[in-house]
Amino acid sequence: MLTETLIIGGGLSGLALAAQLAVQGRDFLLVEARDRLGGRILTQQEGTAHFDLGPTWFWPGQPRIAALIHRLGLSRFDQFDQGELIFEDELGRVHRGRGYASMQGSWRLEGGLGALISALEKEIPGQRLRVSTRIQTLTRTATGIKATSEDGVSLLARRGVLALPPRIAAKLSFSPTLPNATLTALEETVTWMASQAKAVAVYDRPFWREAGLSGDAMSRYGPMVEIHDASPATGGPYALFGFIGVVPQARSDQQILRQQIQAQLIRLFGSEAGKPRELYLKDWAYDRFTATELDTQVSHAHPQYGLHRALDGLWGGDLILAGTEVAPQFGGYLEGALEASELALARLDISIER
Ligand SMILES: Cc1cc2nc3c(=O)[nH]c(=O)nc-3n(C[C@H](O)[C@H](O)[C@H](O)COP(=O)(O)OP(=O)(O)OC[C@H]3O[C@@H](n4cnc5c(N)ncnc54)[C@H](O)[C@@H]3O)c2cc1C
Repeated sequence: MLTETLIIGGGLSGLALAAQLAVQGRDFLLVEARDRLGGRILTQQEGTAHFDLGPTWFWPGQPRIAALIHRLGLSRFDQFDQGELIFEDELGRVHRGRGYASMQGSWRLEGGLGALISALEKEIPGQRLRVSTRIQTLTRTATGIKATSEDGVSLLARRGVLALPPRIAAKLSFSPTLPNATLTALEETVTWMASQAKAVAVYDRPFWREAGLSGDAMSRYGPMVEIHDASPATGGPYALFGFIGVVPQARSDQQILRQQIQAQLIRLFGSEAGKPRELYLKDWAYDRFTATELDTQVSHAHPQYGLHRALDGLWGGDLILAGTEVAPQFGGYLEGALEASELALARLDISIER
């Protein structure tokens, strides 16, 4: 199959680019390794409620995501912020009255962020999207690029866009091989949040709200270090979510981790918290389409992102990077995924004009 532009990766960045190309009536194909679209955006449905196991929030001052949500006819709501925050010290002692909701002012999306992915998918003709297609090899040809999938399918394109975390891109096999400086730059770019794991505990009643608590907790004891209310905009089921603070190497046994999470929920919010109707756990560090072995090193500070010089103009400008990690201003965030897809579109146009 021959296409003008092959987009590799169906996360927000790749899908936003695909939607732009679709509006312009251009020829392209998007391939996605997983059997679902969305990448780090992963939303679990429970009844009429939706719970985000990847990203949760976006913020004022992020123009692209605001515009996209508006265009797609979706609605945002405020992160729940009424009530006290709980603090758990290093000995597991619980303190109340140490402050209020810590993510006040953050926005969430009705239907979870998965609603963004479903709405974007509807803007792209079905024959231009292919899931369960993991690209393994990229070969430069006289007329463009040949991409070969894990199961041996070859796709020919004039140019290719890698809408992937850079460390995942570095795992592909390139022929001819990329310069060392390029491979090093790819590998050294930390994949934002790839080392993280998230737990979502779902309940029939928001008992913490009834007790005057916002659902926010900060813990020095763990395993969750930061907890927030994750309930839908209106109605239930209700939920609390937490980031797991234990390093990936120490949390590979999910059964033990679940027990520790439940024990912590009881310490913080009382016995009712120990009996969630569902406890979802998503460990991104062990997901091969997001993380590599380099992501077992936890990164706390937000890295400086952008398109490294060694990542520009690959294969004469026919191999272009997208994905949030190459966005100069909002790198790492959802907004960065959109910023990167805009920049990739501009580079595609330059490549076509040449
Ligand atoms: C736990 C967690 C919490 C977060 N919280 C927030 C938040 O609150 N707010 C915020 O703004 N951001 C947050 N983020 C970051 C946000 O999720 C990302 O910025 C955004 O989703 C990145 O989109 P992307 O398209 O650039 O990359 P990805 O979503 O990683 O998409 C890359 C895609 O490429 C696919 N792929 C991989 N290898 C191949 C291959 N060989 N062939 C074909 N396809 C392949 C993957 O399956 C994936 O679908 C969070 C992330 C995580 C993990």
